[in-house]
Amino acid sequence: MSSYINAFLDEIKAKNPAQPEFHQAVLEVAHSVALVLDRHPEYRKAKILERIAEPERVIMFRVSWMDDAGEIHVNRGYRIQMNSAIGPYKGGLRFHPTVNLGILKFLAFEQVFKNALTTLPMGGGKGGCDFDPKGKSDNEVMRLCQSFMSELYRHIGPDTDVPAGDIGVGGREIGFLYGQYRKLRNEVTGVLTGKGLDWGGSLIRPEATGYGAVYFAAEMLKTRNQTLEGKKCLVSGSGNVAQYTIEKINELGGKALTLSDSNGFIYDPEGIDSKKLEFVMDLKNNRRGRIKEYADKYKGVAYTPLTPDLDHNPIWDIKADCAFPSATQNEINGKDAKNLVRNGVFVISEGANMPTTPEGVDVFLDAKILYAPGKAANAGGVATSGLEMSQNSARLSWTREEVDSRLHHIMKSIHKTCVEAAAAYGTPGNYVNGANIGGFLKVARAMIEQGLV
Ligand code: NDP
Repeated sequence: MSSYINAFLDEIKAKNPAQPEFHQAVLEVAHSVALVLDRHPEYRKAKILERIAEPERVIMFRVSWMDDAGEIHVNRGYRIQMNSAIGPYKGGLRFHPTVNLGILKFLAFEQVFKNALTTLPMGGGKGGCDFDPKGKSDNEVMRLCQSFMSELYRHIGPDTDVPAGDIGVGGREIGFLYGQYRKLRNEVTGVLTGKGLDWGGSLIRPEATGYGAVYFAAEMLKTRNQTLEGKKCLVSGSGNVAQYTIEKINELGGKALTLSDSNGFIYDPEGIDSKKLEFVMDLKNNRRGRIKEYADKYKGVAYTPLTPDLDHNPIWDIKADCAFPSATQNEINGKDAKNLVRNGVFVISEGANMPTTPEGVDVFLDAKILYAPGKAANAGGVATSGLEMSQNSARLSWTREEVDSRLHHIMKSIHKTCVEAAAAYGTPGNYVNGANIGGFLKVARAMIEQGLV
């Protein structure tokens, strides 16, 4: 089997040059899925792995817009429609200067397995733009969103492809994107999720990814007869996922110690309580400031600026019990992983997508800690997007309690799927194999049943 997987991975690298993040994501899944192919030669014969790693469609387009000073800018927009075997393409849009084809393909690929795990009928996709929202006015962001949607609208729809937010795309951007879609199509549908509450959005959608990552950590702790009560938690990022991760950690009796952005991180040994979290939400969501201001405001808080040429990130070198990486891909390398384990961290629940490098993942698996990969731990966001789609189709709004209880139930069910799949394929406790195999089996069955299309 390993020669088959190696040949497959060589082909992926040859066919998709200069896309290291995509290679990394495929490699991880392929190693888990090898266990399935051993037992199910029919999947190998049907070339499911080869087909699943090839996007159904890739759309790239020009996004030109004018800044407030009248200068013209040209960005590049993308939508990767990866796999629709079990439902319409579903996945976020990322606006960040690092966005490129390889990063969006890795995200779209991960999304296929994640969405399959949610128990809801959603295929996988991802999109975005190499635009940097930092320092841009609301009007500039609006013009960029309108230009982006002026092309994207012809490729998406409530039964075809339903984008959502991701890094750099929050409530403000979803509003501008939705407004332009509605104008161009002259229809009011659930074509985007993460919408405002007054125009089709779901309660709990903003909270869902962070809440879900904490629910997943609580499920993992339960397997060792423990809870989050009194646990010290490291959180990276300070955006949507990080903020609601901290809200739920506090609610379940844990203590969050850190937050970061691309300039540095803060360490608050007293814990980021709900009052301080309110300050962070205003700082990041309204004033759009830097996390350093937290250390200026509160006593006893250390701020460490990011040093890019350091071989590790000091945010992961603090004594704690749990870690919730919630910023971006590959933010934990092999050395960071060793530091985490050495400092007593034994629960990792990934709010971000693929935040740990393969070397880091190996450290966690060897240490036999409770390690949940993003495609399982952060699936609460897309799951609640799925619930928003259901509410839009039925033209109904569920209460906060109803959505939260469905989210909680879905996270428990994803946890159960991971545990059972890992055990069924001879690697009990390995959530990486559990998530990859659990997601793969559902999509593979659908692809076989629907024939070679
Ligand atoms: P936001 O844009 O709200 O926040 C992102 C945070 O991460 C910011 O604090 C940002 O800092 C920091 N960050 C981004 N890129 C980098 C970088 N290259 N280096 C250091 N810090 C960085 O995004 P989200 O919270 O929505 O997303 C965070 C992660 O969670 C992503 O990996 C995303 O794919 C994943 N995710 C999000 C979901 C959602 O529902 N939103 C669902 C599932 C996964 P700065 O402001 O300085 O850039």
